[in-house]
Order: sequence, then C-alpha cells, then structure tokens
Amino acid sequence: MAVISEKHQKVKVVSRRDHAKDLWSLRVQPETQLSFKPGQYTTLGVRENGKIIERAFSIVSSPLENEVEFFFELVPHGELTPHIYYAKEGSELLMRRQAKGLFTLDTESGHRQHLLVATVTGVAPYVSMVRTAARKANQGQPPGYRMVLIQSASRSWEFAYREELQALAEQHAWLEYVPTVSRPWEDAEWTGEVGRVEDVLRKYLDSFGLTPETTTAYVCGHPQMIENTKGILARRGFSKESVREEGYWVPKKSHK
Ligand SMILES: Cc1cc2nc3c(=O)[nH]c(=O)nc-3n(C[C@H](O)[C@H](O)[C@H](O)COP(=O)(O)OP(=O)(O)OC[C@H]3O[C@@H](n4cnc5c(N)ncnc54)[C@H](O)[C@@H]3O)c2cc1C
Repeated sequence: MAVISEKHQKVKVVSRRDHAKDLWSLRVQPETQLSFKPGQYTTLGVRENGKIIERAFSIVSSPLENEVEFFFELVPHGELTPHIYYAKEGSELLMRRQAKGLFTLDTESGHRQHLLVATVTGVAPYVSMVRTAARKANQGQPPGYRMVLIQSASRSWEFAYREELQALAEQHAWLEYVPTVSRPWEDAEWTGEVGRVEDVLRKYLDSFGLTPETTTAYVCGHPQMIENTKGILARRGFSKESVREEGYWVPKKSHK
C-alpha cells in the first residue's frame, strides 16, 4: 500500500460486523503498527474530490491485537459516516498514524475502582481497556483494580459488544458489566436492566460501593448523558479530577 501523506496511512478493511441497521464495526489492517493506549482515538477518513474528510474514532481493539477495530454509528446526513457505512472487506480508508487522547485509565490517584459509563458507541474505548486487562489477566497478571461498565442503548441489539463483555465479566471477578435498555417497549424480549444511565447510576454506585474515595469515573458518548452523569457524580462528592469525559459530538436536546 502506498503512503499518502506523512500524517496518514491507507488501511485495508479486513472484516465488518453489522449490529443494527445504523451500527457496525470494522477491523482494519494498518501498514505500520498504530501505537496507542487503551481509551485513545485516532482519525479515520476518505478522500473525496482531492480533499480528505476525516473524524475521530475511539479504538475498540487492544494494543495487543494486530488489527485495529472501530465501532460506528451512522449519522445519516453526516459528512463522513455515510462513506464509511459502505466500507466492506477489502475497502481502503485513510487513518492517521498517531493515536491521541487523555481518556485513558487513571494510574495516578491510586483508586482501585473504575466506573465506565457509555451510551452505545461510547463503549468503544472501554472495550479496549477491558480486552487489554483480560489478556494480561489470562497471562497471569490480573489488573489489581475493579471495572464496572454501565452501557445504555435504546434497544438491546445496539450494545454490539454485549456477548463479549458478559462473557468476560463471567470469567473475571474484576469486571462487572451492566447493559441497560432505555426503550424496553421496543424490545419485548429484553429482561435485563431498564432506563437510561442517569436513571440507574445511583443504584449501582450504592450496590457496587463506588465511592469518591475509591473510584475514578469515565463518561463517554452522548454529550447530554455526559452532563447529566457528571451532575450526579458531583452531587455524590466526586471531584472534577476523578471524572474523565469523552464527548462524541455537540449536545442536542434529547438522547437515548
Ligand atoms: C474523541 C472522539 C471519539 C469518537 N469516537 C467515535 C466512535 O468510536 N464511534 C462513532 O460512531 N463516533 C465517534 N465519534 C464521533 C465522530 O468523530 C463523528 O463526529 C461522527 O461519526 C459523525 O461524523 P459525520 O462526519 O458522519 O457527521 P458530521 O458531519 O460530523 O455531523 C453532522 C451532525 O451530526 C451531529 N452528530 C455527530 N455524531 C452524532 C451522533 N453519533 N449522533 C447524533 N448526532 C451526531 C454533529 O454534531 C453534527 O451536527 C468520536 C468523536 C470524538 C471527538
């Protein structure tokens, strides 16, 4: 594959998984290895009329994997996602050579609990963190901290990584996964937790003993969910330093 600029490289799609009509994952093979920490993002793009259209995407895969994985939501009138929506095995995309971002696990405060909160695609950075911790645990290096991941979606098929996360949670005592459906009336077979993140958060802060003294919180995805969650955490005594955030787009009024 030819190098197209100093900043970008071409990457080939090696597999695609569709989760819902507007949600899908791609695994790509970079030409040169992407170096990143779990939780970081890189930029994907396409070239159109001599111009590169690009956006940030959190990395789903672990740095311990050879391929790089992403989880997308189609924004129907968006500039980029309608292009990526048509990507399939063998398609080529552009990817920045550098990963970025400070949305990584807190290793400084000494907190032994990490509360990971997401709406739909906001689970991406957490899958990278969990996969990395699980791989290390399987090699005899358990993480020494607990992760509690709460993910909300309108309907259960939008979780995308539920089976993987539930299986890992069953295997590893340091991981708890709580998927919660906010429109159960559109998902008759769902028997799990219901409500938005904001509706169930207080309950799980209590039941898992996620206190400000022991916990760093991370919130990722829908900007309004982030604001609401930050408010709940602040009222529980979490300091600003103990709450990390990754907003995916500019706030709108309602959310899933
Ligand atoms: C650090 C970071 C990591 C990100 N990681 C991911 C990821 O893992 N997966 C992912 O799908 N997206 C992710 N995003 C969002 C992504 O960068 C794009 O903004 C998104 O894919 C839309 O791009 P677009 O060009 O199709 O739409 P644009 O042309 O950029 O946006 C069109 C309009 O839609 C709004 N919008 C953008 N995204 C959404 C959305 N999901 N729902 C509702 N409205 C929206 C925008 O505010 C704008 O008003 C991330 C963003 C950031 C900043």
